[in-house]
Amino acid sequence: MIYDCIIVGGGLSGLQAAIQLGRYGHSTLVLDAADGRSTWCRSYNNLLGWPDGVSGKHLRRLGRDQAGRLGVHFVETWIERAEPIPEGFALISRDQSVYHGRRLLLATGVVDRLPPLEGLIPCLGISLFICPDCDGYEIRDRPAVIIGSGDAGAAMALKLIFWSKQLTYINHERRPLSAAMSEQLAQKDIPRIELQVRRLVADGEQLLGFELEDGSFHAADRGFVAFGGNEVRSGLAHQLGAERLENRHVLTDPRSKMTSVRHVWATGDIGVHAEQASIAMGEGVQAAIWMHKSLL
Ligand SMILES: Cc1cc2nc3c(=O)[nH]c(=O)nc-3n(C[C@H](O)[C@H](O)[C@H](O)COP(=O)(O)OP(=O)(O)OC[C@H]3O[C@@H](n4cnc5c(N)ncnc54)[C@H](O)[C@@H]3O)c2cc1C
Repeated sequence: MIYDCIIVGGGLSGLQAAIQLGRYGHSTLVLDAADGRSTWCRSYNNLLGWPDGVSGKHLRRLGRDQAGRLGVHFVETWIERAEPIPEGFALISRDQSVYHGRRLLLATGVVDRLPPLEGLIPCLGISLFICPDCDGYEIRDRPAVIIGSGDAGAAMALKLIFWSKQLTYINHERRPLSAAMSEQLAQKDIPRIELQVRRLVADGEQLLGFELEDGSFHAADRGFVAFGGNEVRSGLAHQLGAERLENRHVLTDPRSKMTSVRHVWATGDIGVHAEQASIAMGEGVQAAIWMHKSLL
């Protein structure tokens, strides 16, 4: 069987596109590995309609139910290869299953580089954050710790000073800072700790602090994580020849979200630097509209 549309990535962008394509009545398949950002975030706090926040898991469940009611099919799998075929595209999974579609949307997102500290993931979106534009508000005028690596962590601290002057930077990986970053941290009076975190202390989703390698304890109930080197999951786009930036974000047409490869679209975090839930969803609809037009 060949689907009208295949979506790789059933996160926020892929699900919103699936709902739109389902409403057109196009046969649509979502291939999703069910990991990554929207499975981690325990609370999106800046979304219209959710003043008390909503978890990624809940949004994903809602999206999947809504798309399922419209006849969209789902398979939980990891797609390793994408190849052109005369009618469209073949997607080959890790277990060598092959799926065929006339149109392809890649909504495979970004994965954050996080330190392997036990107890970190449950705090994400509640007491530990990664995105200042999303969650700087959560630390306004209160103490917070940035745990990170070298200049990436320092840059995060400098952004967060807009919300709080009570910041401490723990350079967990002890990667050396550039002279310019060191100077800026000093100018802004942001103290820096050059010690590894031995243990993250939390009560479920509530961060309590960090035990450092010298045995000291740094209490904190709010924190940001900034290690740099996040993985942009644009490998499938690359296999098909889609143009990417140096940092591996996929370039798309601003109007249609189609990549440089005909009938391949890319939306959400793999696109050029939005990294916001609402933008990922909006782009999903945008691409779906143009996928529909192309099928007429
Ligand atoms: C801790 C945290 C907090 C955040 N807080 C906010 C916030 O408050 N507000 C906000 O607007 N944004 C926030 N974000 C960002 C937001 O989560 C992302 O912008 C959003 O999830 C992007 O949606 P997406 O569909 O592009 O990617 P994702 O939601 O990450 O979905 C991508 C999907 O693709 C799948 N996938 C990837 N590769 C493959 C493959 N090869 N085969 C099969 N499946 C694959 C993954 O398993 C995943 O399910 C936060 C992110 C994190 C990590």
